[in-house]
Amino acid sequence: MVEIEYDKEAPVWLGQWLTDEEINERYTSILQANAKSYSMRLKRMVLTFSKFSLRATLDQFHPVWQLKDGEWCCRCDCGSPRGCVHTYLATFLFKLVCQKEGWQLPSAAQLSVPQSNSTQTPAKPASDARPQQLSFFENEPATGTSTPVRPVPKKRYSLVCEADFTSNRYGVILRFFRVEDGYRYPMLMSAVRLLGAEFERVEAQKMEPTAIWPEKDKEFIKWLYPKMMELNFTQLGNRELFLTPKDFWRWMDRWSQEPGRIVEHNSQKGMETLDIGVPKGLAVRLFDHG
Ligand SMILES: [Zn+2]
Repeated sequence: MVEIEYDKEAPVWLGQWLTDEEINERYTSILQANAKSYSMRLKRMVLTFSKFSLRATLDQFHPVWQLKDGEWCCRCDCGSPRGCVHTYLATFLFKLVCQKEGWQLPSAAQLSVPQSNSTQTPAKPASDARPQQLSFFENEPATGTSTPVRPVPKKRYSLVCEADFTSNRYGVILRFFRVEDGYRYPMLMSAVRLLGAEFERVEAQKMEPTAIWPEKDKEFIKWLYPKMMELNFTQLGNRELFLTPKDFWRWMDRWSQEPGRIVEHNSQKGMETLDIGVPKGLAVRLFDHG
């Protein structure tokens, strides 16, 4: 079992640490789930606390959380431009440590976590400087302990798929967006694939889904999943998917009956409402020779 190594003394900034809500605002439930499953493959997890920072070593990566002017900012050497699995994992592991040690987190005030039976107090002088170790997920609810977990309201997402006929003269560019609170967030193909995998897993194992998606979107994403499995590494890192005209019309054969399933980029109208003006078969030929 992988153990978390951590400094024995509670950090001085404990009372200013991020609340669960703040963490959930920064990281989607999908990223959180990915991070937790990724963590199962890690061989080394270390947390160290300094006066203004939380540093982690997660195998070869080193996420850092730093308190600057009362604000927590994070960075990581994995190169991910936005919040990555490592910076999230640092918060998750830190929370596990706090639960284990009975260190009172700001958000834990309403949680009424029962103090662990150990008599340790946060300010106990570190007479023994050896780092503590915590068996990974020891305190996780799934392992049968009784730590109460406040239910986090599930996020509601939906999916937009848009087809762009003007950017590439050889075919159709598709883009996928996760919609949250009316905002669109472009998705990497790897994210579309992960979502397909998650839906499959939730269904197969009758698990609780981590977020709420419309049934129609789930159906579409599950249909996309095998197609995403065929993409190579470079394609998975893109936010655009190129389809030949033939392939595109094959997609449309399946989805054109569903209103708004695929919207046209410039008009943002559902493909089924567009007057394409030529029969599908002819359009294929026009594209091919275009
Ligand atoms: Zn990272």
